[in-house]
Amino acid sequence: MIPFSSPEFFIGKLRHQEEKEVHWFIFAGDELLVSTDKTEIPSEHSFSLLRSLYIGTLKNKHLFACDVENGSPAPQGWAWIKLKDLHNILNADHYSVAGRALQLVEWDRTHTYCGCCGSLTFQRKEERCKECPSCGHLAYPKIAPAIMALVRKGNQILLARSPHFPEKMYSVLAGFVDPGETLEQCVVREVFEEVGIKVKNVSYFGSQPWPFSRSLMIGFTCDWEEGEICIDPLEIEDAAWFDQDHLPDIPTSLSLARSLIDSMSNS
Ligand SMILES: [Zn+2]
Repeated sequence: MIPFSSPEFFIGKLRHQEEKEVHWFIFAGDELLVSTDKTEIPSEHSFSLLRSLYIGTLKNKHLFACDVENGSPAPQGWAWIKLKDLHNILNADHYSVAGRALQLVEWDRTHTYCGCCGSLTFQRKEERCKECPSCGHLAYPKIAPAIMALVRKGNQILLARSPHFPEKMYSVLAGFVDPGETLEQCVVREVFEEVGIKVKNVSYFGSQPWPFSRSLMIGFTCDWEEGEICIDPLEIEDAAWFDQDHLPDIPTSLSLARSLIDSMSNS
């Protein structure tokens, strides 16, 4: 089961200049300009923009990602809100576009100069890429793949909490993929490192972009093979096997972690 369909927006270049309304995804730092009731994205603005990137169309509207100086006052009726605080509030398509917009704005902000020789870069016309005119270095937007693993043992699932989770909340295990590692190897390694058990039957479940750490979360299910829970105290505060009908506090819906957990009760 793949629980997350992509929003119906076309990702691409501005190919023709037909008149269309525009939605402006405007950031000041990591805060997005939305209406004070947190439901609307502006269709016009009078800011002096630091940068503006075309990102596609959604329902016949052009979409632009842009940013302004930190501390710029919001117009009346509008407010700067952290993207995290708009989860499950802003409509799902706009939230998804905003995640992409934030990552592209951050990439553009941090690649003004070449990472190899320090020269001023330029945006390539044919693709989303910064090119260095001096040494030829190319810089594409970076995405860090990270796995999520739901470990099953009979009718029980393994959930853990890390120290930075909200109080009492547990979730599935997660971790970033190492260079040179397959996703399946990463699942086996992360589970062993974090809770000391071996798993088998690693199977793809679904994926979800996670803009806050420039990640793509890739979810897997797997089965306990051997070992007792022995947590890595540097990463995990507690881990335990839970019955489906006696779960602790878990992440909210619309998250990949929650879809993984819910998949057990649906199977
Ligand atoms: Zn260079």
